[in-house]
Amino acid sequence: METREPDSRAKEFASKRQQLGRLIRRRGFTNEAVLDAILQVSREQFVPDDFRDQAYFDQPLPIGKNQTISQPFVVAMMTDALSLGPSDRVLEIGTGSGYAAAVISRIAKHVDTVERHVELAESAARRLAQLGYDNVQVHFGDGTHGWPERAPYDAIVVAAGGPQVPPSLTDQLAVGGRLVMPVGKHRSVQQLIRMRRLSEDRFEEEDLGGVSFVPLVGAAGWDAADSSFPSTRARR
Ligand code: SAH
Repeated sequence: METREPDSRAKEFASKRQQLGRLIRRRGFTNEAVLDAILQVSREQFVPDDFRDQAYFDQPLPIGKNQTISQPFVVAMMTDALSLGPSDRVLEIGTGSGYAAAVISRIAKHVDTVERHVELAESAARRLAQLGYDNVQVHFGDGTHGWPERAPYDAIVVAAGGPQVPPSLTDQLAVGGRLVMPVGKHRSVQQLIRMRRLSEDRFEEEDLGGVSFVPLVGAAGWDAADSSFPSTRARR
């Protein structure tokens, strides 16, 4: 449902959004296209009502189903790492609230985003449509398989941490494409990895630093049960 803000409330959010932009800049972030995109997306529309007052704190917030909307600085950093251009087609795994997809959609041509919790996928799809993000398409499913129908992608971003980069995702990356994903041996501590596909069979990989994301759950991710083992299906 569209929530109409009284003018003063909308102005308050707009000014907090500017403050958040300044905070991100002060940390040495210089990608203007990404900063602009962050300044164009009303994060308060992507968080549950009870958390709207905290929408512009630079922190993750709960969105239900034990999941979180990512921290704005992390969304900025990951989007920057994707080196996006206006003709790029992007695949995101882990739609969550739809916030990161909205930010990316302001820079890239099209975003396909996949979410494994049907309730989150449905509410993100509804929200993005209502807000007019018509170059974002939300899909329900296990994103460790990627989204083969629309592959290859110029950029792939995974918003949950897995034990490995799922082979389907590297397969679906175009030559010249970039993939950003948190990878780690434990469910909740990872290194943010950036891969670039140099040719059909050559990839370059960089470590962008330590991060902590919710687990990537699926065939080439972790088990749904709260164990610290990779999904049995991934080991087949
Ligand atoms: N980008 C989101 C934050 C996502 S949190 C935002 O801006 O709000 C990570 C999300 O990944 C969660 O919603 C979780 O349910 C989802 N997820 C975890 N494993 C997944 C998988 N295999 N396929 C698709 N989504 C997955």
